[in-house]
Amino acid sequence: EMYGDRTNSLGLNMNIHSQADDFIAAVQQYRDKQWQGGPIVDGKTIETDHHVSITSPQETSKQVGSIYWGDKKLSEQALKSANAAYKSWRNVPTEERAKCLENFADLMEANRNELIALCSVEAGKGLQDGIDEVREAVDFCRYYANQARELMGGPIQLPGPTGEDNELFVEGRGTFICISPWNFPLAIFVGQVAAALVTGNSVIAKPAEQTGLIAYRAVQLALEAGIPGNVLHFMPGSGAEVGSYLTSQEDIGGVCFTGSTYTAQAINRALAARTGPIVPLVAETGGQNAMMVDSTALPEQVVTDIVASAFQSAGQRCSALRVLFVQDDVADRVLDLLRGAMEELKVGDPLLHETDVGPVIDGIAKTNLEQHISDIQQAGRLIARAPLPDYAMGGTFVAPTAIEIDSISQLVKENFGPILHVIRFKTSEIDEVIESINNTGFGLTFGIHSRNETFAHDVASRIDVGNVYINRNQIGAIVGVQPFGGRGMSGTGPKAGGPHYLTRFITEKTRSDNI
Ligand code: NAD
Repeated sequence: EMYGDRTNSLGLNMNIHSQADDFIAAVQQYRDKQWQGGPIVDGKTIETDHHVSITSPQETSKQVGSIYWGDKKLSEQALKSANAAYKSWRNVPTEERAKCLENFADLMEANRNELIALCSVEAGKGLQDGIDEVREAVDFCRYYANQARELMGGPIQLPGPTGEDNELFVEGRGTFICISPWNFPLAIFVGQVAAALVTGNSVIAKPAEQTGLIAYRAVQLALEAGIPGNVLHFMPGSGAEVGSYLTSQEDIGGVCFTGSTYTAQAINRALAARTGPIVPLVAETGGQNAMMVDSTALPEQVVTDIVASAFQSAGQRCSALRVLFVQDDVADRVLDLLRGAMEELKVGDPLLHETDVGPVIDGIAKTNLEQHISDIQQAGRLIARAPLPDYAMGGTFVAPTAIEIDSISQLVKENFGPILHVIRFKTSEIDEVIESINNTGFGLTFGIHSRNETFAHDVASRIDVGNVYINRNQIGAIVGVQPFGGRGMSGTGPKAGGPHYLTRFITEKTRSDNI
């Protein structure tokens, strides 16, 4: 895929059997490896007295490694060092910082099999998900390196009276606190860090509690790639302790957050309660994503796209389809095909090629999702549940489920897993449907299936979301191709992997020179 003068990384084609077999064997070699990690401050891994073991979602009795957690004291030390380092890092030529990111991308590609294995054993992601995850992380680095070259390549010359030179300079803001979720434990973690670093900021990166090991590995590679140890620090730990401590400090340069809307709101309040500089918050959060299928759509294609959108990655994508609106005339046909497709879904071990749907992240997520299924089923009608494998009890598997309900307003929160809600509508109700989707307050992704271009474009223009997909699935945004991010309760923007993302990480200075 080409965009502008840049090429995305190619990944790997799992449909070519010779390629796929070698790759799968290489990844599976890591099945029983024990990974270790901990906070990295000034380039050194620190062993704290809080040692946490990490288990695998597909087999919760299986330990995949352990990690030391940081605390307030260590965070304070990291922040002090990062703030001092920023003073020189912001003056390092952009080209040098961009090169570091490109080295980092190369190192991730060189270590791709281990990173994919970690995605799978630590986060329960399937092989294709793992391939896509590394690609995205690599693409973020290369894309932001090039964006930084454009944005920070030199001062912009401005007009002025004769004898006066007016110039606009951009530079980093200070230390960015980067806080990421478990569902893209490499790509989002790396994307945030890469954007902040390349624009001349220092970084303290806090991964999600569940996925510290892959993040630790990524930071090791970033340091190996040439990012100075006093510029990038790694602080695994709890959101309530480390996350809230770092986001309430006076002397930070900004916060880059991806996760739930609830946590973003808590961070927003923490930032507001501080004294000191007013800093940017880049927040990418949850969604209540809908798809609309009208009577002209092709049912077979629709169902393939519904299944991918709702159930790939066990529905644990922020972009995933949660609410399907299907026009009454085609609803029975679409739902019949959907039932058939769901019966064929293979839920199971994410390290196997034939698996379509892996586990959800942990026991808490499973309990919450099962509770939602049982609650909403009382108000609705079950369409289908995919079968579970025999060993499902050993892991946190949730069977992909489709339930028909009456109104999107029955959904009070984002249900972050393989649950699809279905609502029938009549063509005369289209305005109410659009209004009900907009009324959720979220605005992340929206899909529409229709062969009527005027209709599709009209609906697309009236839905308040960040990413609209017509006649395809609504997941898997590609860096530079579908810059990603929502509005309203789904995020602040600017879009990750898009041309404006870096602008939130910089500060500007003009110089009016009469020498
Ligand atoms: P979460 O909000 O529970 O946690 C995200 C991060 O915030 C973690 O690192 C956590 O430790 C930290 N955190 C928790 N409390 C904190 C506090 N008080 N102060 C500072 N940090 C704190 O989210 P999650 O469960 O890890 O991730 C799933 C969510 O992420 C879903 O809602 C999903 O939609 C969203 N998401 C959004 C996007 C997007 O681009 N819009 C992408 C991926 C995931």
